[in-house]
Amino acid sequence: MSSLIGVLALQGDFESHAVALGRAGARACPVRRPADLAGLVGLVVPGGESTVMQRLAAEYGLEQPIRAAVQRGLPVFGTCAGAILMGRGSELRPPRWRLMDIGAERNAYGRQLQSTTLTLPLATFGEFECLFIRAPRLFDPGPEVEVLGRRDDDIILARQANVLVATFHPELTEDDRLHRYFLESCGAEASETSVGR
Ligand code: GLN
Repeated sequence: MSSLIGVLALQGDFESHAVALGRAGARACPVRRPADLAGLVGLVVPGGESTVMQRLAAEYGLEQPIRAAVQRGLPVFGTCAGAILMGRGSELRPPRWRLMDIGAERNAYGRQLQSTTLTLPLATFGEFECLFIRAPRLFDPGPEVEVLGRRDDDIILARQANVLVATFHPELTEDDRLHRYFLESCGAEASETSVGR
């Protein structure tokens, strides 16, 4: 049986991530309570509305257990709003989860009622179709952060130890290489065939 990956399912596009993980050969389950974290080998924090997700995670008693699990080494993949939550925030904003030493500015490309798809070069993957929806801008990475992709000067894909973040939405495009890359870091087996390129 394949290993279990949790998807934080309080708000946002968690279902698309579960489908993408399934396509990559993993088993995904929703995380809504602290007990749902038991036995996971990885956790996805999806896109959505970071302020709402942060508030709900605190209300459901999930913020501290998630932070503790990730600090103990649980691999986590934060996309868009999920990437914002991983960042360190700033003095002007409420503190985020501070699991990656990186700044994050919400809605950095405007309200963006239409989403934007750009084909951009990413480390490890080469060209990747990146779908941005009211995307944040990641900037000012600490020394531990490995930058894996940029949109002009802004960081769009980065990793720090067991924390991976993307400001775009790989769960909404056909290419499942990023989900497979995350699964590998979880020690979870991905299936042989790739739906993406
Ligand atoms: N703009 C959203 C936020 O600030 C993120 C958008 C997304 O996740 N697609 O939380």
